[in-house]
Amino acid sequence: MEKLRAWFLANRRKFPWRESPLPYAVWVSEVMLQQTRAAVVIPYFEKWMQRFPTLEALAKASVDEVVKCWEGLGYYARARALHLGAQEVVSKREGVIPSEREALEEIRGIGPYTAGAILSFAYHKRAPAVDGNVARVVSRLFFIQEEISRPQTRQRIEQLVEKMLPQVEPWVVMEALIELGALVCQKKADCYRCPMQEQCIAFQRKEVFNVPVKKPSAASLSLRRLSYIILFQGEVFIRKAEEGKVMAGLCEFPYLDEDSAAQIKSSSKQISLFGLRLRKGKDLSSVRHTFTRFRVELLPSIWYAAEKRESAQGFWVSIEKLKSLAFSSGDRRILEQLQKEDLFCPESSSAVINCRMGSKMIR
Ligand code: SF4
Repeated sequence: MEKLRAWFLANRRKFPWRESPLPYAVWVSEVMLQQTRAAVVIPYFEKWMQRFPTLEALAKASVDEVVKCWEGLGYYARARALHLGAQEVVSKREGVIPSEREALEEIRGIGPYTAGAILSFAYHKRAPAVDGNVARVVSRLFFIQEEISRPQTRQRIEQLVEKMLPQVEPWVVMEALIELGALVCQKKADCYRCPMQEQCIAFQRKEVFNVPVKKPSAASLSLRRLSYIILFQGEVFIRKAEEGKVMAGLCEFPYLDEDSAAQIKSSSKQISLFGLRLRKGKDLSSVRHTFTRFRVELLPSIWYAAEKRESAQGFWVSIEKLKSLAFSSGDRRILEQLQKEDLFCPESSSAVINCRMGSKMIR
């Protein structure tokens, strides 16, 4: 392990969460780093720690504030679980993040990897933290041919990592394995730069690209949705994504899947929809976005409401307020389009003055 350790100490990247790895900061950074590249996480982490510098500050915040601070990072269930986990630690554990694996894994949103990372980096314990990077490295080092996502394989990898961790400063080797997977032993491994080449069975057998063994991924699903940007005198009709859905907690422009939209009866471009009477305005450019295994094409258009009616299917907000709300990346791109072309303003209406936005309104 000496070579790996020396390589890491020479190549270690500087990240804000590595500067003072307290349990709360490690927890936040590790949750953000799931499914997301470190370079993308840095500004989010910094903003988050300014906004919620302590576990208590996070626990006290509203879910809307938490989701807004996460806006753009995707996989919003992570933010909601982190928030609930913080509330749990404050209410049931006097605000102290436990230093034992069993207790950590009881907390909402903390799985075996995050628990291992907190134990290793914050509490400096000899604890394996097996993320995708470590699983890939270890499966190659030991040439593990079992399918990588099986619980038994994960368990085997954890045991192997535990054996690799030295008694002295085990966290350095733990982080080194993570870094090796992120920088060298990537999907396309750069073995000639690797400090573990001599020990690596997959490299010795020229089998590097046959491990880890993965099960075929589920086919992605393509969807086309009509997004309705509904305006009435400087106000916009939006809704909250339903609980239990991937985007729960985020605001969204109401939409219909293309097939359902085709069933709607309309006359002279007027329709009744979402509890409102609507008249069609301009079509906007389509927007594509991807989340989990869905590839969605959003087909946005502007609609004008005949009157400002209350509806159980959404709510009205002023255009000024939109920037303080959290939207998915697809809807944010629609918002940018609206702002760029000043499309919030009806074609001819005294409401123009009411609805015109400052050019710096939405970012
Ligand atoms: Fe990964 Fe190649 Fe290093 Fe083996 S030698 S650990 S496959 S980079």
